[in-house]
Amino acid sequence: MAGDGLDRGPVDQGRRSLLRGRPTAVPAPIHPPWSHPDYFAALCTRCGACAAACPEAILRPGDGGYPEVDFGRGECSFCGACADACSEPIFDRTAPPWALRPTVAPSCLAVQRVVCRSCQDACPEGAIRFQPASGGAAQPRIDEAACTGCGACVAACPAGAVTLTHRTGTRQTGSPAHAD
Ligand code: SF4
Ligand code: SF4
Ligand code: SF4
Repeated sequence: MAGDGLDRGPVDQGRRSLLRGRPTAVPAPIHPPWSHPDYFAALCTRCGACAAACPEAILRPGDGGYPEVDFGRGECSFCGACADACSEPIFDRTAPPWALRPTVAPSCLAVQRVVCRSCQDACPEGAIRFQPASGGAAQPRIDEAACTGCGACVAACPAGAVTLTHRTGTRQTGSPAHAD
């Protein structure tokens, strides 16, 4: 998948910037899949081995240099290369990788009554369906049971309206306290 504007032409970049608008809040960081929030901050040495190993190049240094997932660069294939590359006991592959699920903001083109199904087209799990709405374009609906939290829908959205957030009761909290 193309990166978040990195591989796109200037016209498309401008369109995306225009449609995105200003972010209203800094999103909580998402750490690599299978990384345990209770251990992550204390044990991560910020060596960058996980990011270097990621074939999708979606891991980058975030707050304090800790690796964070950037779904604007692409989706997670759940290949496990990040976990395999880490020399610290941070990753638990016996548990689900995370329970991230998409949230669609009001800036969604379909919500704005513009026909768009980019997220549906990008979803490898068929977890996004569009339902007819009276007086407007069909609206996206997420099947959270079918969704894997791969993030493919994030970069696919031309309005930047899709974000992945942690659902309650999951291990990855999205914002563990970093022990700098
Ligand atoms: S490989 Fe492990 S220790 Fe190194 S940055 Fe990634 S999670 Fe942290
Ligand atoms: S599981 Fe694979 S694609 Fe996903 S973040 Fe880790 S290395 Fe990257
Ligand atoms: S995060 Fe869920 S809804 Fe989005 S593309 Fe992946 S499986 Fe589909």
